[in-house]
Amino acid sequence: MARNFRTLDDMGEVTGKRVLVREDLNVPMADGAVTDDTRLRAAVQTVAELADKGAKVIVLAHFGRPKGQRNPEMSLALVTRPFEAVLGRPVRFIDDQDAAGVIATMAEGEVGILENTRFDAGEEKNAPETVDRLAALGDLYVNDAFSAAHRAHASTEGLAHKLPAFAGRQMEAELDALDKALGNPEHPVAAVVGGAKVSTKLDVLKHLVAQVDHLIIGGGMANTFLAARGVNVGKSLCEHDLTGTAEEILDAADKANCTVHLPYDVVVAKEFRANPPVRTVNVHEVAEDEMILDVGPAATEALADVLKTCRTLVWNGPLGAFETPPFDTATISLARTAAALTKEGSLVSVAGGGDTVAALNQAGVAGDFSFVSTAGGAFLEWMEGKALPGVAALQR
Ligand code: AMP
Repeated sequence: MARNFRTLDDMGEVTGKRVLVREDLNVPMADGAVTDDTRLRAAVQTVAELADKGAKVIVLAHFGRPKGQRNPEMSLALVTRPFEAVLGRPVRFIDDQDAAGVIATMAEGEVGILENTRFDAGEEKNAPETVDRLAALGDLYVNDAFSAAHRAHASTEGLAHKLPAFAGRQMEAELDALDKALGNPEHPVAAVVGGAKVSTKLDVLKHLVAQVDHLIIGGGMANTFLAARGVNVGKSLCEHDLTGTAEEILDAADKANCTVHLPYDVVVAKEFRANPPVRTVNVHEVAEDEMILDVGPAATEALADVLKTCRTLVWNGPLGAFETPPFDTATISLARTAAALTKEGSLVSVAGGGDTVAALNQAGVAGDFSFVSTAGGAFLEWMEGKALPGVAALQR
């Protein structure tokens, strides 16, 4: 595949150059400590590589939703020490009151984090004066934050038009993986789409039916499709007002030669809590006072057989209410099948979205997938077939 974006390999000499690197440092914190440093670790490769090459690395990032106001609780000063610990070298905090002055004193190979980009109301508006203010701080621009690329903000999109722009290592890996999964995948391709509601994933489903050979629908959203096919889903989570839309999607799939897989056996309970009494039943045997909370074992086995015939898998959303045992069973089982097939070399597997990553971690297989994207909104928009502004700006 010919790549249509430039990477760190195309930057030429960076020694002594000021490189603005957009990262996603929006980490969860409690009592002043970072509770999950995944995003900090993901930023290390690009920052370290540029610093090793002698660049003055100025990291740009947002933190929380300060809505254009200065807010000390959302200062990136809070993330500077944790990032320094993960990076394993000193990191300077750059207050945006005198950013140019501080940057002028930076040495070659030094790393700094500029204050929260969203303290400036122009960031989210992609305001020209904000883009100019940031562009004046650097010579080159690197976007390494795929997870923020669905927003056309000054630091994620505007800067790419002002400075020579490159994809960071994390962005590069993400774009390559996504291209293998949906851009130019090896067929047959399967998509697993699960999660709570159809309404949040309508565009994903509509796009996928035209792209993939097998569409596996699970989770609460499968109930709306089952209802559309005349199944009585009892007390299950179900968007009854969307059964017409579900039918349209099934019709579109039919026309596109995409096989849609809905569960035919399910695990049901009368109460939604951990380890309640459960029954495994055919979808036509759900009682009025029961809820479908997971895909059943027979359907799960059939889905595993589908994956065995496929070369590519893209996965978003759990097959059941996986946070509550035993309704994680189908998700864990299918995730393990996908991981085993990936290890054997017969499947390229790409998964993304917050809940999906949590589910794969629960199954202990996140490391065995070909690629796991921690991007939530950006991953979904990409699955919808939308052009992400931050990516498009790199592809000019
Ligand atoms: P989403 O954020 O759309 O990917 O939805 C994920 C959520 O869907 C998780 O919190 C699951 O517990 C929930 N979920 C999956 N299957 C079901 C189901 N059958 N009934 C209710 N909730 C479900």
